[in-house]
Amino acid sequence: MVYDVVIAGGGAAGLSAALYAGRARLKALVIEKYNITGSQIIYTNEVDNYLGIPSVSGFELVSKFKEHAINEAEFTEGEVSGITKADGIFNLKLADGTEIKSKTVIIATGAIHNKLGIKGEEEFTGKGVSYCATCDGAFYKGKNAVVAGGGDTALSEALYLSNICNKVYLLHRRNELRGSKIYQDKIKSTENIEFIGNVIIDEIKGEEKVSSIAYHNKTDNTQAVLPVNGVFIAIGMKPDTDMLKGLADIDGYGYVIAGEDGRTNISGLFVAGDIRQKKLRQLITAVSDGANCIASVEEYLNKGK
Ligand code: NAP
Repeated sequence: MVYDVVIAGGGAAGLSAALYAGRARLKALVIEKYNITGSQIIYTNEVDNYLGIPSVSGFELVSKFKEHAINEAEFTEGEVSGITKADGIFNLKLADGTEIKSKTVIIATGAIHNKLGIKGEEEFTGKGVSYCATCDGAFYKGKNAVVAGGGDTALSEALYLSNICNKVYLLHRRNELRGSKIYQDKIKSTENIEFIGNVIIDEIKGEEKVSSIAYHNKTDNTQAVLPVNGVFIAIGMKPDTDMLKGLADIDGYGYVIAGEDGRTNISGLFVAGDIRQKKLRQLITAVSDGANCIASVEEYLNKGK
């Protein structure tokens, strides 16, 4: 059997694509790695920037997405390990050896935030530990927060939080920041941001929620504790593109090069959500990508390009 479209990834982008595929009467299959728990958004305690839904947990929102999309496509669990194309048909190989054929493919497998890998990080994710200031910053109004990292993301997160929080500590493993000079200048001139360089964060502490972090200086090993409510970890992301290596064009940071229509350099192969090279990685842009991809799939199926 050959599907019209196979969607890899059951997060916001993949589920949006599934919904639109069903409405377009396409024969669609969604391949999810871990059912709903594979979606990044479930780690967000409260989503307050999704238009029309002022406050909802990430898990509840993605559960609603799934509920809405479930009858619009077939769903299966599996991990896509390789994709080839021959005679206009894609062959997707899953990790368990299963092979699936489709006229088009949408990859919506997302990107994973790098982790510090320290004590308390996993335990307090969604309870003070966050990987997205735009998503969660509002919960720390008037409170103290730490941003970990020294790249543009860390600097822009610190600047964003400085408008919300009482005090923002920017902790970086080196004394020199990697982020752009313009951000660095802004950081220096923002009174409530304190840069602490050359340090390693050892532990995130708290009871029900985060209450402090412990760190040490790399040179003299002095230990310190900062009382904070929020810990924003911004040490880079890894897009899940392994199955596309050697097939689709990927930028220097590992994101697939595609415009808003999701079209990659391979005709019939589309990408949606955080895996795509884009400026704003949010739920709302992922959902939009999924819908746009199906419009492109329909165009491709009708015109053959
Ligand atoms: P990035 O540039 O790779 O920076 C990652 C930062 O995290 C680095 O400072 C790195 O330290 C630190 N880091 C990595 N692993 C760590 C670990 N295990 N423990 C502690 N620190 C660790 O990533 P990014 O900031 O997410 O930016 C990615 C790309 O997006 C960049 O090209 C950036 O310019 C772009 N971006 C642009 C904007 C914008 O507004 N123009 C905003 C956000 C992102 P070292 O410095 O020591 O390596």
